[in-house]
Amino acid sequence: MNYRHAFHAGNFADVIKHVALVAVLLHLRRKEKPFCVIDTHAGAGLYDLGGAEAARTGEAKQGIAQLCGITADAHAQGALAIYLDCVNRDGVDRYPGSPLIAARLLRPQDRLVAIEKHPQAAAALRAALAEFRNARAVEGDGYERLPGLLPPPERRGVVLIDPPFEEEDEFTRAADAVLRAHRRFATGIYLLWYPVKSRTGADAFCGEVSTRGVAPLLRIEIDTGLAPGAEKQRLGAAGLLVLNPPFQFDSEMQRVAAILAPRLGRDETGPAAMTVRRT
Ligand code: SAM
Repeated sequence: MNYRHAFHAGNFADVIKHVALVAVLLHLRRKEKPFCVIDTHAGAGLYDLGGAEAARTGEAKQGIAQLCGITADAHAQGALAIYLDCVNRDGVDRYPGSPLIAARLLRPQDRLVAIEKHPQAAAALRAALAEFRNARAVEGDGYERLPGLLPPPERRGVVLIDPPFEEEDEFTRAADAVLRAHRRFATGIYLLWYPVKSRTGADAFCGEVSTRGVAPLLRIEIDTGLAPGAEKQRLGAAGLLVLNPPFQFDSEMQRVAAILAPRLGRDETGPAAMTVRRT
């Protein structure tokens, strides 16, 4: 377990993943009934963008830092506006991870379970969530804990599966985890993040999930134009599989894509390419 999200926090992939998470949470909030959020690979909760790790990669500069000029006006409504409001609360040098963003959008009747395996990150997560009465930080293995949490008593909710993809078998593990979880809680919304290291690899992964009988399924991808392996340790493209996407979620993400793709590209290759499609 060498992965530290502090090196990547606030990068282009985080931005898309977190706006999508906010869009799902806003959908769940439309009904009074409580919902549950389960974050299986939660990370530390809050990241220092001025710290040594973030400075070493500079990834946030081509991610969240590119959105500074966007205000909650006609250009940024709905999920994007709420996302920006959530991240701006921490100032320009800090960036909230998925569990902190989710905790900020819970109502009193809702609940968050955030699981993190790395002891140091889990301790930071506990601190980041301490002020939220209905958010629980758990130190443990997200894959192992997930089945025991499903179905949640609320029978409504979202599961975010966001592994580090350090291990060879992580694609298989993540696909198995989401399919197994879906069997226990078929009406839940699932967000499964994945890196796009090669087109064939990403297609095979998404094909694996869709051919094993999970529908409806939406695939969101963003490609910043950086060729795979061009810069050591740096990811150029990433995706998010959304199982049971909420009503009109795809059109909301299309609108987000039109605003964010031009900003999240690289100077040398131009705007990022962002696609939102049903599989
Ligand atoms: N979801 C976070 C966010 O969006 O802010 C980022 C999570 S980061 C990509 C992946 C995290 O998973 C790391 O903090 C890593 O320590 C943790 N991790 C690795 N294997 C794990 C496992 N089996 N169970 C739970 N956490 C794990």
